[in-house]
Amino acid sequence: MFLHRHDGPLTHDLLRAPGRHGLGQLPQRLAPEATTRTVCGFCSTGCALTAHLRGGAAINLSPATDSPVNLGMACPKGWEALTPLDAPDRATTPRLRTTDGGWEAAPWDRALGEMVTRFRTINEEHGPGGLAFLSTGQIPTEEMVFLGALAKFGMGMRHGDGNTRQCMATAAVAYKESFGFDAPPYTYADFEESDVILLSGSNLCITHPILWERIARNLHSPEIVVIDPRRTETAAAATQHHPVRPKGDLALYYAIANILIARDWIDPEFVDAHTEGFEAFAAHVRSFTPEAVSDATALPTHEICRLAETIHAGKRVSFWWTMGVNQSHEGVRTAQALINLALLTGNIGRPGTGANSITGQCNAMGSRLFSNTTALFAGHDFTRASDRRKIASILGLDAARVPRENSLPYERILEEIRAGRVRGLWVVGTNPGHSWIHQTEFRETLDMLDVLVVQDMYPDTETARAADIFLPAAGWGEKEGTFINSERRLGLVKKIHAAPGEALADFHIFRLVAEYWGVGDLFDRWRTPEDVFRTMQEMSVGQPCDISGIAGYDALEEHAGIQWPHASGAPPPAPERRLFEDGRFFTDSGRARFCFEQPRPSREMPDDSFPFTLLTGRGSSSQWHTETRTGRSPILRKLHRAEPWVEIHSDDASRLGLIAEDWVVLRSRRGALQARAVVQDTISPGQVFVSMHDAQTNRLTFPEFDPYSHQPSYKHCAVRVERAHPKSGSSARHPSCGGPPTPAT
Ligand code: SF4
Repeated sequence: MFLHRHDGPLTHDLLRAPGRHGLGQLPQRLAPEATTRTVCGFCSTGCALTAHLRGGAAINLSPATDSPVNLGMACPKGWEALTPLDAPDRATTPRLRTTDGGWEAAPWDRALGEMVTRFRTINEEHGPGGLAFLSTGQIPTEEMVFLGALAKFGMGMRHGDGNTRQCMATAAVAYKESFGFDAPPYTYADFEESDVILLSGSNLCITHPILWERIARNLHSPEIVVIDPRRTETAAAATQHHPVRPKGDLALYYAIANILIARDWIDPEFVDAHTEGFEAFAAHVRSFTPEAVSDATALPTHEICRLAETIHAGKRVSFWWTMGVNQSHEGVRTAQALINLALLTGNIGRPGTGANSITGQCNAMGSRLFSNTTALFAGHDFTRASDRRKIASILGLDAARVPRENSLPYERILEEIRAGRVRGLWVVGTNPGHSWIHQTEFRETLDMLDVLVVQDMYPDTETARAADIFLPAAGWGEKEGTFINSERRLGLVKKIHAAPGEALADFHIFRLVAEYWGVGDLFDRWRTPEDVFRTMQEMSVGQPCDISGIAGYDALEEHAGIQWPHASGAPPPAPERRLFEDGRFFTDSGRARFCFEQPRPSREMPDDSFPFTLLTGRGSSSQWHTETRTGRSPILRKLHRAEPWVEIHSDDASRLGLIAEDWVVLRSRRGALQARAVVQDTISPGQVFVSMHDAQTNRLTFPEFDPYSHQPSYKHCAVRVERAHPKSGSSARHPSCGGPPTPAT
């Protein structure tokens, strides 16, 4: 047994004699000299990696050749995934904030005692709404389940969300409304089967390089159509690039739908048999003629017509999107406009087709299904009594412990902090002090908390530096569990590296918190991640994501991952499977729904004071999000421009008297950043682009949210561009990047 429960001062076997998942010890089942397969812990592609072991520990990684996902390929992040684990500044002990604002190392017993005492005080004074958690799409699903169950059913929290709100909430809501369940329908083989591949708001070459390689393997000479304001690396390699005006995409897709309907280029049999709402949709798009939307889209009418003709000419058309769609003030309707195009033309449920959202993080799909935040486990509904009873019964709980309402979404939790109602926050494996929109407001929000607990691998993230209590966590490669990738594939993540010092797997931190909170008995059945996996299987029975037929971790190992669904009694899983081949969707009627709405402008448009539109996005395939891990690899840093940079059109640069590499200040109504000018015509006049990896970027962004998904609209705000004062570019340097110091806001 890992843990002993005591009535007096709590000590744990976990901290004294770690087992397979505990401190610093490697799994005994691996031979001293061997290889083992695992799944990459960065993006949602879910590449299988071969870990080369010596003495049970990984000494190197290479792409696995026996996986249907990556076919022997990996991007630089996958090759370099071990390096961040050995960074000298890993957190090795819990830390507590001292009265003079410094840190002191503390034993686990004291840190957890402090956390529980302070959280309990808040609970007693403010009720269950006084505490909240923010988690991540970067930890195994089993850990998400444990946190979701512990926080909501054990500690009585009402509100918790994940950083998947920042990347995938839009796609989740769009699918739920259109298909009846959050169900990306595709398999990666569809990249190789399509004859038309439409990529919307996706710089696939950079964001998902292995999926771009899958397109490169397509033998059908596909038309590759990129809809993106920038001529990205992907757009430059495409057969068609349409530089749509930022946020003109919804009107564009309605215009294409209008042309397809008007010219009778739809699939009436599919529409009649498998959809509902077509007549209303056709009426809605009738006014979206190419002429009517040409200004809003910044595309000439013949280009809009060409897009419709390209879709019509395709026999197997696939529609793909990522953050350019999701991170928008009307992202859900834009994603559904793409879904509508697939439905209209019958491009779904067949090889090479689909309305396909590509996920962001390695386990974003796990978070969507199993984090117990805005949906009850396995796609159940907090507001439905029968769902609450089912989940409670599986967990052996009193159903009264299951909240009757959904969590507030991320930005509403932050509002609750500002209103003084949420007083304690537990942040697990995410760095919103860099990544959340409108950083000035976010930092002020953190300052309003009574207690901030941060659980992470490194104590120096922007968020960890603000913590009152810091808990050191093991990282990817230092624990076991499953990830679910973009194509719904569950893959097994292995422990191949020892966590440093006293750092613990999040799984075990949650077990300890449960013990200290006094609810450890609720989770007695969860001794290992695989125990939690079996519970996930039980909870999924009867749901579209039913995984009850997977014969445990061994089956995931044997098949190099298995896509959901895989219900009990199903035949052995095929390597690649797509949804909706029978034309039946997960709605009550079995039909997919056309969902639509009138486009509306962003609340912040360029004007005389802030005349440029700021676009943001991934700047490099060698860096991951806030660079917390990848920034610690010298190799990955070399593959990425060290100084912050801003892409600006040559006409704008010459009007402002800028030349390449000049330092410029970008200023919005909320803050400013300083960066080197990259003068190139990959961007349209009046627009500028900066990388999301730069911690300065979210000083500028505008906190606008999709009203349905509550996803932030990172891709659009108004800024002005100024030449940096000559002295600021030549004196003190930015501490992390060597650039100039932070401009005054
Ligand atoms: Fe594959 Fe993504 Fe990992 Fe790169 S980061 S190796 S593309 S899973």
